[in-house]
Amino acid sequence: MATLRDIVYENVREGDSELCEKLDRNRVRCYACGHCCPIPDGQPGVCKVRYNRGGTLFVPWGYVGGVQCDPIEKKPFFHAYPGSLAYSFGMLGCDLHCGYCQNWVTSQALRDPNAVSPPLRASPEGLVQDALRQGAKVLVSTYNEPLITSEWAVAIFKEAKNAGLVTGFVSNGNGTPQVLEYLRPWVDLYKVDLKSFDDRHYHELGGRIGPILDTIRRLYQMGTWLEIVTLLIPGFNDSDDELRRLTGFVASVSPEIPWHVTAFHKDYKMDAPADTRSQDLLRAAEIGKQAGLRYIYAGNLPGAVNRLEDTHCPKCDKRLVKRHGYFVEDYQLTAQGNCPSCGTAIPGRWASKFAGQIADRPFLPRRGSPLVTILN
Ligand code: SF4
Repeated sequence: MATLRDIVYENVREGDSELCEKLDRNRVRCYACGHCCPIPDGQPGVCKVRYNRGGTLFVPWGYVGGVQCDPIEKKPFFHAYPGSLAYSFGMLGCDLHCGYCQNWVTSQALRDPNAVSPPLRASPEGLVQDALRQGAKVLVSTYNEPLITSEWAVAIFKEAKNAGLVTGFVSNGNGTPQVLEYLRPWVDLYKVDLKSFDDRHYHELGGRIGPILDTIRRLYQMGTWLEIVTLLIPGFNDSDDELRRLTGFVASVSPEIPWHVTAFHKDYKMDAPADTRSQDLLRAAEIGKQAGLRYIYAGNLPGAVNRLEDTHCPKCDKRLVKRHGYFVEDYQLTAQGNCPSCGTAIPGRWASKFAGQIADRPFLPRRGSPLVTILN
C-alpha cells in the first residue's frame, strides 16, 4: 500500500524556473521560502514536499490536504470584505515546525507519524467551481504553509481570478523576493503570522526572523493587502519588551496595518504554557496602541476583550464594524470604505455594501463535492 510519502512524491510536477536555480553537482536551489535550500540530487528540502530528482526540482501538484468553508474573519482578515465566505484549501507540509501549531495534521504530515491527513485529488477548475457553488467570494491557501506550494496556489488563483474571486495567502511570511514577485499578480490578500520578535525564538521554530520582516516590508511596498497576527503565548513571546519591539516594527512599516493579537490554547506539543487570558490580550493591545498602531484586534476570546473585536474610526472613534467572534453584527462603512461620520478613509478592501454572512462558523463544502476523491 502506498505511504503518505509515496503519494506526496508521486503527485508533483517540475517547479517553475522563477522559483529555482540549478547549482553544481546536480544540486538545485529552491526559492519558494526563506530557507533557500540547496537540495542535493535525490533529497527533499526542509519542507519535505519539494525535492530534487536528477537535478530537477519537483513540487506538489494536483491534490489538497483539506478543504473548508470559513468566514473570512477566521483567517483572520478584518479589513477585507467583512462577512464573506473564504473557501480555504491546504496541501501538506511546512517549512517550520512550531510545537503549538493548530493545523499540525496537515502541516506536519510528513514529519510526525501522528499527523495523518489523506490527500484528496483536486484540480484548479474543480476547486474554483466548488468555491463558487458554496457562495465564496474569496479563495485562500492556508492550513499548511502556502509558500512551499506556490506553483499550485498560482494555478488555482489564475482560475479563481478569471471567475471573479478574490485570492489570499495565510502564511508564516518566511518568503523570498523571488517568491513574492512570483505571487504578486495572483495574491490579493496576505496574512503574515509574526510569531515573535526574537530570532532565538524563531530558531526554536525552525526559522529566522530576517526573511519574515523582509516579507512584511516587501508586501506592504507591493500594495498587497496585508494583516498581521501574533498568537500570544505566555512565557514565549508576551514580555512587554518583545511586544514593544514587535509592534514598533509593524508601526514603522505602516501604522495602518491591522494587527491581530490572539489567544493561545494548549495544542500539539506545546502544552506547558498556560492559556492566554483576556487581560494578557488587553495588555498587548495597549502596547500596540502606544506604538501607534491604529487597528488592533484581540482574537480567540469572543466577548471578553472589550471593544477589541470591533473596527473603530481612528479619527472620530465611530464604531464601523461590530463583531462577536466571526459574526459581523453591524456594518457602517460607506460604499467607498469611509467612515460615514467624519469621512476618514479606512484602509482595506471593501465591498460596495455589506451583503450579510453565509456562515459565521466554518463548515465543510456542502453537497459533498464530486471534485475531490481520496488518493489511493
Ligand atoms: S520551500 Fe523552503 S524548505 Fe522547501 S525546498 Fe524550498 S526553500 Fe527548502
